[in-house]
Amino acid sequence: MPRLYPVERYRDIGIIAHIDAGKTTVTERVLFYTGVSHKIGEVHDGKAIMDWMVQEKERGITITAAAITCFWAPINVSAEKDTDRDEEQRKKEGVNEYLINIIDTPGHIDFTVEVQRSLRVLDGAVVVFDGVAGVEPQSETVWRQADKFHVPRICFINKLDRMGASFEKSLESIWQKLSPSALAIQLPLGEEENFEGIIDLLEMKAIIFEGDFGQIVKKEEIPQNFLAKAKKWREKLIEKVAAEDQILLEKYLAGHEISIEELRKTLRKATINNKLIPVFCGSALKNKGIQPMLDGIVFYLPNPMDLPSVKGTDPKTGETIDREPSDDKPFSALAFKIATDPYVGTLTYFRVYSGSLKQGSYVLNTTTGEKERIGRILRMHAQDREEVKEVFAGDIAATVGLKNTSTGHTLCDENHPIVLEKIIFPEPVISIRIEPKTKADQEKIGAALKRLMDEDPTFRVKGDLETGETIISGMGELHLDIIADRLKREFKVEANIGRPQVAYKETIKETAEAEGKYIRQSGGRGQYGHVFLRVSPRERGTGFEFIDEIKGGIIPREFIPAVKKGIKEAMDKGVLAGYPIVDLSVALYDGSFHEVDSSEIAFKIAGSMAFQAAAKRSKPVLLEPIMKLEVIVPSEFFGDVIGDLSAKRGRIEETKDRLQMKVIDVKVSLAEMFGYATSLRSLTEGRGTFTMEFNCYEEVPSNIAQEIIDGKRR
Ligand code: GDP
Repeated sequence: MPRLYPVERYRDIGIIAHIDAGKTTVTERVLFYTGVSHKIGEVHDGKAIMDWMVQEKERGITITAAAITCFWAPINVSAEKDTDRDEEQRKKEGVNEYLINIIDTPGHIDFTVEVQRSLRVLDGAVVVFDGVAGVEPQSETVWRQADKFHVPRICFINKLDRMGASFEKSLESIWQKLSPSALAIQLPLGEEENFEGIIDLLEMKAIIFEGDFGQIVKKEEIPQNFLAKAKKWREKLIEKVAAEDQILLEKYLAGHEISIEELRKTLRKATINNKLIPVFCGSALKNKGIQPMLDGIVFYLPNPMDLPSVKGTDPKTGETIDREPSDDKPFSALAFKIATDPYVGTLTYFRVYSGSLKQGSYVLNTTTGEKERIGRILRMHAQDREEVKEVFAGDIAATVGLKNTSTGHTLCDENHPIVLEKIIFPEPVISIRIEPKTKADQEKIGAALKRLMDEDPTFRVKGDLETGETIISGMGELHLDIIADRLKREFKVEANIGRPQVAYKETIKETAEAEGKYIRQSGGRGQYGHVFLRVSPRERGTGFEFIDEIKGGIIPREFIPAVKKGIKEAMDKGVLAGYPIVDLSVALYDGSFHEVDSSEIAFKIAGSMAFQAAAKRSKPVLLEPIMKLEVIVPSEFFGDVIGDLSAKRGRIEETKDRLQMKVIDVKVSLAEMFGYATSLRSLTEGRGTFTMEFNCYEEVPSNIAQEIIDGKRR
């Protein structure tokens, strides 16, 4: 079955916003208008829409899905012609809509992983702002993340009906705090209680929204009292756009007329290349401005073909492979979210980068090396789930029943294996003891934790064999709080949660040798295991290496894996304060055995004993996670914030000015960072923000290390 919508008609986008800016309302309206235009077509009959809305309400709009597909036929059909390269084919197929996949992006930016994985699979974004508050601290953080991933975007200044709303002030704050490339292509027609509609600066028309749901879009002449202002802003717009294209610039400088089509084409190109950011406006609540913004998604945000092909590596040769978003190329996709759906079970959301995928076929997961069978393929819509037989390059869909595929894994054609560029997940740095409250909770907790781990690659679970306790680790205090909350609400598991602990590690600084001997010869069958080990430090981050130097059968082959197992178990327990030992090599260079009494278990114990003895002699030290912070504060608080960071053993790497703010790049030990959000808030009257990510493990200064070791021993 061929695809219905050509890939040029796809837009894979996210709507991102500061909490409360109106993301939910905007998304709801987008789903409403796209639903209406798709289901009821051009009918602007209030009753038909009302009926549709009632049904919609009954089914509940699933705006919480990880990705929703909707369809939009631009209201501005003349403009569509400039962007649609496939018009002939479209006429043949009778498709006049665009397929828009809206990928959910989290409102909280604390979870870099959530933000990163959604930014990784989307091609463009709409950033929603509150027209009263303008740029708020969190919008800045999200914006910078989007910069990092080079996400082309458009802005939507929302809530212009509210008291105190100002389009110009909000735009000003975008210029000041985020980017001078933001470019107004609309103006509001009135503000606050006089907010009536929108002025389209390209077409120089007023747009009015009529009908109970603003579903009737009318174009009118711009009222006289707005004309001078609109002309002034249009002039700015033309100047900026013309500067992006040599031919337009010459025309402009020569005083020639530039057509709307030329402007739109150049603006599209500049938006996709992150040179300009078109700014739209409206009021989602009052049903004004959403349809032109949807047109804006179609006109200015990229389709999958507009962007560079996805890159990956051949898992066998390590060679780099490019995959164009074409159906003729071998299949490749990235799983970006595992979610639990109350009706169908576990859903794996994936984005297809190349080729196509049929229901019932097999794919290779190159991350695990295992094959998986694709069961049902679902496309999530606002009001229902649509089962589709096949998906193509550019599609975002979910499949049911994958067993071993987690977030970030690549799925592909087994004959053309590729590993797509990984989403890099930071290491968990904080851990908490968790203990089920009752026997029933005990039974449920394992499955629940496994499910959470599949969903979130920065969340880990480890059992402490000795105490029978479970330790969960993650990216920060808030991260684990939310996990605990989900355990309770979604999985109905009650558990006692300990205090958060820094995930320290241990390592060694010198080479040392030791002997391990485990001999029991009292009655029955004896035990005999005997080894000599040499431990040596390795570079940070290189992990563990086992070297087998046994020659001439001094220890029989079959016992060597047991020695290694003993070493690994001992490594997990550490020798200083019970933290896992990392970054070292262990050589097994000598030993002996007994014809009758030697066993795997005896060699395992001997290995473990020898390792502990050797590690204790090799100058073991504690390692702690060092975090990289970017702290952004208004300059008047700069001194206080720097002082506080220094008191926390922070190492300032760089300070910069960004617009009116000071930006501090600093490295700080995680142990000093508990509760930093609160202390920064009180130091800066709530105006400072920071992002924190794991940087590396470093040796703990010896005076502090001693306190940690003593504390742990107590
Ligand atoms: P989110 O947290 O970004 O998802 O924001 P919501 O969509 O939940 O909106 C937050 C609040 O702002 C809600 O009370 C909305 O009703 C309100 N709101 C959203 N859009 C508008 C708007 O255009 N005008 C006004 N006056 N209020 C709005």
